[in-house]
Amino acid sequence: MSDSRPDAADAGDPDVVIVGAGPAGLSAGLNLVRARHSVLLVDTNRPRHAPTLHSHGMLGLDGIPPLELRRLGREQFLAYPGAAHLTGRVASVSADLTVSITGVRGGPDRELRPRAVLVATGLSERLPQVQNLRAYYGTALHSCIECDGYEKAGLPLALIGQTSDLAARALEIAHWSPDLVVFTNGAPVVTAAEERMLADAGIRIERDDIDEIAGERAVMTGVRLSSGRIVTRSAGFVRPDWLPQVDFLVTTDASRDSTGRIVVDRGFRTDVRGLYAAGDVTAREPMQIAVAAGEGAVVARSIHLDLLGASVGGQLAGPPDFRDGSLIG
Ligand SMILES: Cc1cc2nc3c(=O)[nH]c(=O)nc-3n(C[C@H](O)[C@H](O)[C@H](O)COP(=O)(O)OP(=O)(O)OC[C@H]3O[C@@H](n4cnc5c(N)ncnc54)[C@H](O)[C@@H]3O)c2cc1C
Repeated sequence: MSDSRPDAADAGDPDVVIVGAGPAGLSAGLNLVRARHSVLLVDTNRPRHAPTLHSHGMLGLDGIPPLELRRLGREQFLAYPGAAHLTGRVASVSADLTVSITGVRGGPDRELRPRAVLVATGLSERLPQVQNLRAYYGTALHSCIECDGYEKAGLPLALIGQTSDLAARALEIAHWSPDLVVFTNGAPVVTAAEERMLADAGIRIERDDIDEIAGERAVMTGVRLSSGRIVTRSAGFVRPDWLPQVDFLVTTDASRDSTGRIVVDRGFRTDVRGLYAAGDVTAREPMQIAVAAGEGAVVARSIHLDLLGASVGGQLAGPPDFRDGSLIG
């Protein structure tokens, strides 16, 4: 387990353990140490956006490499007293908030009992089953339309996916390019009615299995179907399956929605006392850095007020009610 601030990380139970140091966890951590709480950020350092070179749409930082954004966030967090960061994997969080951490690269295991735990572990992605697709993911092929649509405007685009929302995503992508082909890779998705709607929008469908992404020297040139036919394309989007990284919560009763994401209230509290969740691991769109970081700030205020309330023996007012509906998720 590597440790960015040995003094703070070894200083006993912190007020808050944050699982995951992406935009949500880092933003929450920064706001919590500024509120003078001790915070341990634990992170496996496997960010979902690692394959991409530039992050778009974050105010003031448009185009920043995602790993640079994380480095800056860690540095600014660690500049405060009470801040600590461990590279490690949280193996379990129990209902009484006991956190078990598995050391990585030969580091020791640890067990902590903080006053609050924030889950900010994001999602993992299962890409459509196409050999060599991963080699083009993050450069020619992307998953986040709002993040990368602008750079792909006007190009001959592919949309590759096997899920029931494929037609809706195709109509969204067509805003950026009128030249779009949808590839279902043999999956029984896109209904006849949807296909007619797509045809009206000038979008074609290829239903055959995909053999591979065609390319020359890492530049995408097309999509090769199992028949051997190549459909010329120079870029596009894929629709992965998004899997919330929450296996370590099995011993709590934190509610999940039908996709496995954690259900939270407007203050990003789960239904387990002292357990919070923010970022992509909760259900909402769009899945973007600015949104995750914003949620980090909101949940930090909830945690701060709840800890303060517990200290004075009562409940303080939660964050302002600025969303419609009582539950997100
Ligand atoms: C290829 C790609 C490109 C993208 N481009 C953009 C873009 O241009 N602009 C934009 O706004 N958004 C972009 N996104 C989306 C953006 O990256 C996410 O919305 C954002 O990172 C979500 O932040 P998060 O903090 O919720 O989770 P993440 O950033 O996914 O962070 C979760 C962290 O938790 C850690 N973790 C997981 N499990 C454990 C565990 N058990 N113990 C300890 N640590 C754990 C992981 O290592 C990871 O560091 C992109 C996504 C992808 C996949």
